[in-house]
Amino acid sequence: MKKHNFSAGPCILPQEVMMKASEAVLDFNGSGLSLIEISHRSKDFVAVMENARSLALDHLGLKGKGYQALFLHGGASMQFLMVAYNLLEKKAGYLNTGTWSNNAIKEAKLFGDVVEVASSKDKGYNYIPKDFSVPNDLDYLHITSNNTIYGTQMKSFPKGNVPLICDMSSDIFSRQLDFSQFDLIYAGAQKNMGPAGTTLVVVKEDILGKVTRKIPSILNYQLQIEKESMFNTPAVFPIYVSMLTLEWLQNIGGIPAIEKINNKKAQLLYSEIDLNPMFKGYAKKEDRSIMNATFNLTENKLKEEFEGMCKEGGINGLNGHRSVGGYRASMYNALSLESVGVLVDIMSELERKG
Ligand SMILES: *Cc1c(COP(=O)(O)O)cnc(C)c1O
Repeated sequence: MKKHNFSAGPCILPQEVMMKASEAVLDFNGSGLSLIEISHRSKDFVAVMENARSLALDHLGLKGKGYQALFLHGGASMQFLMVAYNLLEKKAGYLNTGTWSNNAIKEAKLFGDVVEVASSKDKGYNYIPKDFSVPNDLDYLHITSNNTIYGTQMKSFPKGNVPLICDMSSDIFSRQLDFSQFDLIYAGAQKNMGPAGTTLVVVKEDILGKVTRKIPSILNYQLQIEKESMFNTPAVFPIYVSMLTLEWLQNIGGIPAIEKINNKKAQLLYSEIDLNPMFKGYAKKEDRSIMNATFNLTENKLKEEFEGMCKEGGINGLNGHRSVGGYRASMYNALSLESVGVLVDIMSELERKG
């Protein structure tokens, strides 16, 4: 039976992308060779890299605006330090909205002073802090647009006179935004774009080259740009699959089209959480994420029954992160409205039975 995959990451990818990716592993472009056994400098793979980089900028509306797209190693976690390595001279600001922000802060402290401009730690990170000011003397301000673990999402973004850096790992390509308000965006592929193993970095070139420290080659954005994202052997398979996903997104109408579906999915699930007395949401309503919905049972004694029903219905990956508990339904781009419908039906059946 096909599962309804609500996993937080690595996560569901479009079925047609899976089909094309598996074909390319056996025979890439009818070449008689596998995608994963040819040179990354071959004409065919260079075309993949160029296409993936170009599609990323296209979707974000950043073509011709001074940005470069890179596919790098090391996950979003590598960007926690790479951002600071390349951009932090004296002092950086961080908005603390959860585990991932904290990890980013920890790495940045190795390179300079870090000020937490605001934090939602006081309430278990169930909301997004809004009333804070951005000091003018920061090298940059770092934010996390979607907090995968807590199910909160930023709906508006701080305005300031310093470069804005955004960890967009779990909601990139999911909603329309003015992406030019960010100077650097990064995202581990495995949440909404492809398999684990590559990270998309979109950077405005004019913020680079300003720190005085020496930067190791592989961690240097400027060098990665110069080498067209092929300083060393790139993660050929994850990049290829990311390219296929970006093509899939383009074919269904791009971010505007997927945003409509994502909103429908989120509305369907959140209205069930709100109307069904068996469930309660975790995140503050106004800050709820359209990607990751966090919720719990109002009575723990229904746990076994609910989880049994989910299992029977083919629901996968619903367990909340260990730091929050309860449940988390991740509704990334490739998850269908139908899958959310199946979950919602189970939730309302639990109410009828209860
Ligand atoms: C998953 C996640 C990360 C960590 O990604 P890795 O690629 O595993 O390093 C960082 N930030 C956010 C918002 C995430 O959801």
